[in-house]
Amino acid sequence: MRQNEQPSALIMIFGATGDLANRKLFPSLYRLFEKGNLSENFAVIGVARRPLSNEQFQENVKKSVQSAASNEGENIDEFASHFYYHSHDVTDTNSYVFLRDMAAKLDEQYKTMGNRIFYLAMAPEFFGTIAIHLNEDGLTNVAGFKRLVIEKPFGHDLKSAKALNNQIRTAFSEDEIYRIDHYLGKEMVRNIEVIRFANAIFEPLWNNRYISNIQVTSSETLGVEERGRYYENSGALRDMVQNHMLQMVALLAMEPPIKLNTEEIRSEKVKVLRAMRTIKDDKVDKYFVRGQYGEGLINDQKVSGYREEQMVDPQSNTETFVAGKLLIDNFRWAGVPFYIRTGKRMKSKSTKIVIQFKDIPMNLYYKTEQTLNPNLLVIHIQPEEGITLHLNAQKTGNHMNATPVKLSYANTGIDGINTPEAYEKLLYDCMRGDATNFTHWDEVALSWSFVDNISQFWQKTPAQFPNYESGSAGPKESDVLLARDGFYWWPIGDLEVENC
Ligand code: NAP
Repeated sequence: MRQNEQPSALIMIFGATGDLANRKLFPSLYRLFEKGNLSENFAVIGVARRPLSNEQFQENVKKSVQSAASNEGENIDEFASHFYYHSHDVTDTNSYVFLRDMAAKLDEQYKTMGNRIFYLAMAPEFFGTIAIHLNEDGLTNVAGFKRLVIEKPFGHDLKSAKALNNQIRTAFSEDEIYRIDHYLGKEMVRNIEVIRFANAIFEPLWNNRYISNIQVTSSETLGVEERGRYYENSGALRDMVQNHMLQMVALLAMEPPIKLNTEEIRSEKVKVLRAMRTIKDDKVDKYFVRGQYGEGLINDQKVSGYREEQMVDPQSNTETFVAGKLLIDNFRWAGVPFYIRTGKRMKSKSTKIVIQFKDIPMNLYYKTEQTLNPNLLVIHIQPEEGITLHLNAQKTGNHMNATPVKLSYANTGIDGINTPEAYEKLLYDCMRGDATNFTHWDEVALSWSFVDNISQFWQKTPAQFPNYESGSAGPKESDVLLARDGFYWWPIGDLEVENC
């Protein structure tokens, strides 16, 4: 069935005065509207506690769009006129009935065909309560589709994730639940599939015969900022590894699906997560490294350590850095380490994947005392977007010398425009009913069971924190993790290969 390319729906945003709604959701909806990817038949109800009139809310929407937009946005008034506000405490059971009647009126006024999207842009402790009320008070009783979009974190561990899932499943079926992992909306993460499955040169090499190791890095220069309270109960393992890092590994390691549709891709990703070797108890220290930033320099500015941050315990055992070695026990990947690393307050902001190919059987250039660089395929995810293939070739006039060269494709450089934000694509996918780039419950559950083994071990054993300086590449033990296998991390920032 062809998906409706200009969907109509009533979108209810819970947490409509919050940061996510203002910085991401309103500007993304506006871009969809501006490009004609949103039908005229849409309305938005914003829900939060603070009292606001519809007019005040529409002003907020306009301001948020203007501060994000690169142009003036001529049709911004028209766009904002589709927005309505209801002041409502989501724990107040009486107020949902009013919301139901308001939604029914807008359904009629905007001819939304009874399609509804409920976007929960609020703290996760409210997700279950909201879902239960949406069901009990008849808001999910609609003529068209109903979809629930929820933000991470999806639970705190497998047990809490299961409890939350059971609550939301009382109101929505699995295929109506869109669990956001905004990494899956990023242009180059979506591109992993295309690079692998649309090129004859990579897929035959994509296995343990030709690949020596794969490195996935996501580093930030920012510290915990004002999110100390949340982060203290989360840490890098839950905040980054359980979702974004494991999702990227699954996309890199999965078998080619028989079709590029939601079910087939998800089922291949699930197989990867099932094949991941369990790391628990005394194995954790061999396969995983944790770190916490101390003070240091970022852009020549002195910054304080994690334990000095607001709302952080001065004795905190929370990790702000994780490096790990994952093994996928299947025919394709047996013996190939997937190294992952993520951290805050590192020397640069970068998300990238490096696929390192095995060395050629012998070096014919040894007489000129050249060591050949391994071939690398680098997928740059952010802030740069693109692909670089590192090869060895002879430069003009450089007789019989193999020189490292790079073939690069820069997404932004070629198009000359910034790629649209991940949320715009994910919202559009959700409106069209394409759940490919959202996480299925099976993926969430498998990721939690993998991560729980590690966090349970770490909880029992106090760490020697802080163990890396702000502005560095993380703790030394993270280098040792690779050195034990005869490898090293490729640099975090721009991956320069020396030109001879
Ligand atoms: P936020 O700025 O703290 O916003 C929370 C929103 O919830 C506000 O609109 C608040 O408005 C409303 N709210 C709080 N308690 C309420 C209640 N009892 N009833 C009704 N409304 C209530 O949080 P955020 O940064 O937008 O994050 C929202 C969710 O998205 C979180 O789960 C977060 O982890 C996730 N997330 C955020 C980002 C981001 O870039 N911000 C990125 C990824 C994921 P009132 O105070 O007016 O009620």
